[in-house]
Amino acid sequence: MQIDLSGKKALVMGVANRRSLGWAIAQKLAEAGAEIAFTYQGERLRGELEKLTAELPNTRLYQCDVTVEAELAAVFTDLGEAWGRLDHVVHAIAFAPRPAMEGRYIDTTRDDWVTALEISAYSLLAVAQKAEPLLVEGSSLVTLSYYAAEKVVPKYNVMGIAKSALEATVRYLAYDLGKQGIRINAVSAGPVRTVAARSIPGFIKMFKKVGEAAPLGRNVTHEEVGNLGLFLLSQMAGGITGETVYVDAGYHVMGMQLEEEG
Ligand code: NAD
Repeated sequence: MQIDLSGKKALVMGVANRRSLGWAIAQKLAEAGAEIAFTYQGERLRGELEKLTAELPNTRLYQCDVTVEAELAAVFTDLGEAWGRLDHVVHAIAFAPRPAMEGRYIDTTRDDWVTALEISAYSLLAVAQKAEPLLVEGSSLVTLSYYAAEKVVPKYNVMGIAKSALEATVRYLAYDLGKQGIRINAVSAGPVRTVAARSIPGFIKMFKKVGEAAPLGRNVTHEEVGNLGLFLLSQMAGGITGETVYVDAGYHVMGMQLEEEG
């Protein structure tokens, strides 16, 4: 069955460039026929987004730093006036100050902890709050998480705690929004080469190791992340909410890795 989102209105937050996971999902939404609005953080990224979206019909672009209440509010006010409703929201935003991901978690400063949690987890609540008046029965939201929400991944540090908070936020929002027939889920992606990922110390090494250890013997692709995002947003996933679904070539099912004999 083909997923058809023609006539649907989607907001994608967190596209920095063509490697962004937000863009992987946006491409699938566009292929399915959805009309898409994007937010970007800072004028430098606007140019990138203009190039990327040149081929897409009727896109809307908004500057939005999620820590700036007025910018966040302006996006939804404008979408309310332009569209009057919102069918899909993609939240693909995370940030932690570099020093918080270099040493030990125990040494994280209060400021860095608050910054990481605010941008990477609280922002989903803020977005859902602002979006709620525009959401309708059948609307759906998706965010992006990572394995470090559940298990210790050295160096991921405060971002692991932020992802745990993000996944819990998904469950609580699923409960609140479910009464209106609105769903929210998290896509937990295996490592993919993006700007955010490359800023994690030792990422390339970790990327290689995960690819070797995963049952599929490789890393997940941008397209596979995009496909899961589209599926969860669509009515094909109509019975799924509050869930964190992995797309990681199976890596998270593995336990201790023993040397194979022979
Ligand atoms: P990316 O760098 O392409 O995207 C991150 C986005 O977050 C950027 O567009 C950036 O502008 C935005 N952002 C950061 N701070 C912001 C702020 N204050 N206000 C508004 N936007 C802000 O990297 P990505 O890997 O595509 O990241 C997208 C999501 O996917 C993140 O939540 C990330 O944790 C998650 N994720 C990534 C991987 C991976 O390996 N790449 C794996 C699992 C989950």
